[in-house]
Amino acid sequence: MISLHGLTKVFPGGVRALDGIDLTVADGEFFALLGPSGCGKTTLLRTIAGLETPTGGRVSIDGADVTRLPPGDRDVAMVFQDYAIFPHMDVTANIAYPLRVKKVPRDRRTAKAAEVAARLSLTELLHRRPAELSGGQQQRVALARAIACHPAAFLFDEPLSNLDARLRLEARTFLKRLQRELAVTTVFVTHDQAEALALADRIAVMSDGRMIQVGSPAEIFHRPATTFVASFIGSTPMNLLPARITDGGLAVAGAVLPAPGPCPAEITGEDDLTYGVRPEYMDLSAAERPGAIPGVVSVLENLGTHTLVTMESPDALIQLVVQEGEEPELGARGWAVPRRALLYRDGALLT
Ligand code: ATP
Repeated sequence: MISLHGLTKVFPGGVRALDGIDLTVADGEFFALLGPSGCGKTTLLRTIAGLETPTGGRVSIDGADVTRLPPGDRDVAMVFQDYAIFPHMDVTANIAYPLRVKKVPRDRRTAKAAEVAARLSLTELLHRRPAELSGGQQQRVALARAIACHPAAFLFDEPLSNLDARLRLEARTFLKRLQRELAVTTVFVTHDQAEALALADRIAVMSDGRMIQVGSPAEIFHRPATTFVASFIGSTPMNLLPARITDGGLAVAGAVLPAPGPCPAEITGEDDLTYGVRPEYMDLSAAERPGAIPGVVSVLENLGTHTLVTMESPDALIQLVVQEGEEPELGARGWAVPRRALLYRDGALLT
């Protein structure tokens, strides 16, 4: 279990990379840190590893305060973006390296390296050097090295980002299976929302050194707590449309739509409201109907099994997804009918 209490890091020069982080990652949990470049993900991971000293707050691992312990005494294994495997050592020596540091006898090291290599399908490659391996194989060697010393936690910093798209998908499934089998607490940094949704038990979405929302992939996807989280999650971004309360419901993009849930009585036409609806949660109607946003189809993007339709509406661009074979004509008039929506006030989820 990893606990962070009021963790703060201000770099010399004044950049506040972490701003009072409180978090508990449960034993065996796969936890993703997600957020845009510069939000503090890597700094947080490095602070857990002991590679950065926090300016304030505490880090505990399995109940013990490790804030002042050097990295080698923390019982965590970190896998970096560039794998950081040793070019002059073969695969066996690379995997066995942490055991050598721990002064485990040579025959036991070699046996352990062979056992871990078998689990990661590296047996055939034990005598090769990193230069003779593909990117995916090098990544598996880095993982094997992390696994060999049975750490209390894995810390992964974008370990899949150097792989090409197809290999990355394969490695993702592999990593998820491996983490399930080993049941080791894992903190995983990524800026790829699809990767976080696919891999993690829970996700923290970060911005400017803070955690904006912590939740399961389903919670983060279906009920993003702020418009920032909403715009960051989802392979096609959520439509976020300015809204105003009216007698009959919400005025949104030239239409009057029902509110997605009960609105507090104090809301007035002066409130800064945003109506959020994912492209996947809107239907396209060719006929005018109440509760639908009118528009003209301006772009069609083929996504394989479905098509992303962009419509120009009175004061917004609306995107929705239609199934293969149901694409409208370019230039056609259409009505977007929300099935499932959210309402934000001042950027925070209201209903
Ligand atoms: P990326 O996705 O681009 O790797 P990140 O979310 O991991 O970004 P960090 O690398 O943690 O972000 O950086 C957080 C902030 O701290 C950034 O503004 C960065 O410029 C700053 N920063 C990071 N390391 C240092 C350092 N050694 N000295 C000064 N500022 C730093």
